[in-house]
Amino acid sequence: MGADRLPFMLRSRLFWRIFSINTVAVLIFFVASLGYVELSLKAAIQPAQLESVRVVLLTASGALLLAGMVISFLTARMISGPVEGMRRAAEGIARGDFKERLDEQGDFAALASAFNAMSVQLQNRVEEIEARTRELASIMENVSDGLLLVDAEGNVALVNRAATRLLGQSAAQLEGRPLWQSVRHAEVDELLKQLLILSEPGSVRIEQGAGATTQTLEIVATPLFEVAGGGKLAVLLVRDRTEDKRLDQMRRDFLADVSHELKTPLTSIKAYVETLIDGAVDDPTARAPFLEKIHSNAQRLTALVSDILDISRLESSPHDDERQRQDLNKLVERVVAQFRDRAQKRNVTLEFTRVEAAADAFVNDHDMSEAVENLIDNAIKYSSEGSKVAVAVTREDGQLTISVTDSGIGIPQESLHRVFERFYRVDQARSRALGGTGLGLSIVKHVALRHGGKAEAESELGKGSTFTITLPAA
Ligand code: ADP
Repeated sequence: MGADRLPFMLRSRLFWRIFSINTVAVLIFFVASLGYVELSLKAAIQPAQLESVRVVLLTASGALLLAGMVISFLTARMISGPVEGMRRAAEGIARGDFKERLDEQGDFAALASAFNAMSVQLQNRVEEIEARTRELASIMENVSDGLLLVDAEGNVALVNRAATRLLGQSAAQLEGRPLWQSVRHAEVDELLKQLLILSEPGSVRIEQGAGATTQTLEIVATPLFEVAGGGKLAVLLVRDRTEDKRLDQMRRDFLADVSHELKTPLTSIKAYVETLIDGAVDDPTARAPFLEKIHSNAQRLTALVSDILDISRLESSPHDDERQRQDLNKLVERVVAQFRDRAQKRNVTLEFTRVEAAADAFVNDHDMSEAVENLIDNAIKYSSEGSKVAVAVTREDGQLTISVTDSGIGIPQESLHRVFERFYRVDQARSRALGGTGLGLSIVKHVALRHGGKAEAESELGKGSTFTITLPAA
């Protein structure tokens, strides 16, 4: 039988203490009473009667002593029972078990009820703290940024899932070790030193991995703060900045390309104007062609600026909220009609074939018209005189396709995948001579993407090309 399964009264020291004190008190009382009665009797009655009186007295005293002991036992039990219950409940609370409730009756009713109330309150507080801890742990685990808690010695105390993913190391590899051992970057060492010695916040950018998988990570450090138990921790935030860096690079490239594109016509205009100022203005044979050059360069500038504005707007947001249900047959037919004169001037036959099935789609009329204009413009531009440009709308598997086919100069295979890039031209000189900006197909690609579709090109050098925009039918 285990100690905790022994009868309650045997286990309770308190019970025995109370019981012994009571019993000793009863004993002293009876021994004293007995002595007193005997002395009184000796003085009051005859010696012959004394023996029988003593027997009666002893029997009565024995019975009374027994009764006293029983009363002591019961009293001790009454006092020690609730106290022992409280001790047991308090031990339970210390173990985190709040289920035990005390009987709120008897002499200790008020104490038991206060104890129970305290137990309920403690249970609520502990549950609240546990819930908050769970909440914080779940937030920490699920934030997309990486979080590392570092102690005053630079050892990693805790990491979240995002941090292990971004740093490419498991929690076991990171936790409990100095950060410099797992993340070997001079910039991170410097950041930590600054943080731990000078308590200064800061941030660094590091490159992780190699080649195409290179990641740009930003590590932001916040100063040490005190935690329960007297220790100090600092938070390091790890963010993936790869996409930002790519966009930054794209913006820089775009700016460089735009500046370069704008510089060429501006330099020409400046040179022609200076020549005119220097005297050519008085020479009728030079004046007219110079002014013509200035005019065409100004037109090119206008076209460039207009296309640059369009591409910036299209690239700034991948979705278009201004689309409306429209019949693509009608939209494409209208654009084809705008090019009839130009095609005729170049002796190019312009054909349009409408789809017989329903051709409704959700489109941004302005953007889609511009995209189709760019395709037909290119087809006429890069076609030889007397050739044919066929424009068609077709429908297949819930997708509508606008196709523009020419039998012009075609595009070499190695250039085909690049023609949708900004400012990419197969033949710079020819494009410029024809008034191209190098942005037409890039606009087409962005318009198709914003319509939940795609733009594609097929071509054979010297034979011709087919450009298509495919988008979901309504
Ligand atoms: P551009 O203003 O120079 O025409 P685009 O973005 O519209 O710019 O086209 C990019 C390049 O793709 C053109 O410079 C040209 O080399 C090639 N290209 C586009 N359309 C055709 C076509 N129909 N036939 C042959 N080449 C084309």
